[in-house]
Formats: sequence, structure tokens, C-alpha cells
Amino acid sequence: MSNNLAENLFIITAPSGAGKTTLIKNIIKFSEVNDEKVFMSISHTTRTPRANELHASDYFFISEEEFKSNIDAGVYLEHALVHGNLYGTPKKAIDDHLHDEYKVLLEIDWQGAMEILKAYPEAQSIFISPPSIEELDKRLRDRGLDSEEVIAKRVEGAKLEMEKSSEFKHQIINNSLETALKNLLNIIFREKHG
Ligand code: 5GP
Repeated sequence: MSNNLAENLFIITAPSGAGKTTLIKNIIKFSEVNDEKVFMSISHTTRTPRANELHASDYFFISEEEFKSNIDAGVYLEHALVHGNLYGTPKKAIDDHLHDEYKVLLEIDWQGAMEILKAYPEAQSIFISPPSIEELDKRLRDRGLDSEEVIAKRVEGAKLEMEKSSEFKHQIINNSLETALKNLLNIIFREKHG
């Protein structure tokens, strides 16, 4: 893939609870209303689906065996172990969409972001932080999707992840949805969004 194409690759990293899902939904809505070509990559994971999640929409939920055979077959651009589960970014769909002049969004953890930047230094890396660890803890509890144990693991992971934020080209603090969305739109659609 040429460097030029990689400029349309946007790697979005955020601790869970930072509000990235809402932000990304709004980006997709903006692209539909404005007829922008945007492709959201769907990762593979060995994690169990949450109650509200759909196969092939939120993730491809696959077995560890299948995941490992995909690694051997070179299916992934990167893969990582996150909170005890495997996650991987399928390469082909990304390359195909970049060639078709889509803006491609990846929502992956910091390890994956660093791996992709090694391969495509021209890619845009964006780190979204919650206003504070306390607010993150509150948001994870309020959404009521995870057990106490999982929340504790995610908060610890978030602290570590936030230390990596300076390695990203763009940093957004999600204090208010409106401001964070405006910043994100400016990064992704810089030439069109006023
Ligand atoms: P969740 O299980 O809450 O959906 O995601 C947990 C973490 O895994 C998040 O930080 C998310 O960004 C990350 N993640 C999701 N897909 C991928 C992927 O394909 N590769 C990597 N490295 N991380 C991923």
C-alpha cells in the first residue's frame, strides 16, 4: 500500500468507557448525511459477545482455534491480547477500501495502534481520553454491561493506556460529546468540515 493511501487510515484508540462508541456512531452518521466514503473495520475477537452485540456488526466473534489459524494464514494486519481476549484487524478489507478511496476507521487498542504505525507511518493516530479515571469508572458502571471484576480490570487497563496517549498524533479529551465530535470530524474530514 502506498503512503498516500495510508493517510486515509484513522486509528482510534480509547480506554473502554471513554465514549468512543458514541463518537464513532456520530462519525458514521455524518458520513452518511454528507455522502462521504467511510469504512469502519470490524475486528475479530475471541471475547464472548455482550447482550447487545451482533456478530459481523460489532465484531466477528470466533473461537480461539479459528483465530490462531487466521494468524498463521496472515489474515491480520495486527493482533493483540487485550483484557485476556484476542483481537485482530483483518487486513484485506482495509486495503480494498483504501484502494477504493474510502476513509478507513480502526477502533483498536494502543498495542495494535503502535503495530499499524510501524507498517503505515502515514496513518493518523487518535487517542480519546475520558475526562478522568473517576468519570471512566462511573461510565463503565452506568452502562451496566460488565461485572465488577471486568470493570476493575478495565479501569486498571485504562490507566496504563492513558500513559501511552502522548505517542499518538492527535489527542482528544472527551469532556463534552459536542466538542470531542467536532475535533474528531476536523481530523477525519479536515478539508470539508468547517
Ligand atoms: P471491547 O471488548 O470493550 O469491545 O474492546 C476492548 C479493547 O480491545 C478496546 O480497547 C478495543 O479498542 C480493542 N480492540 C478491538 N478490536 C481490536 C483489534 O482488532 N486489535 C486490537 N489490537 N485491539 C482491538
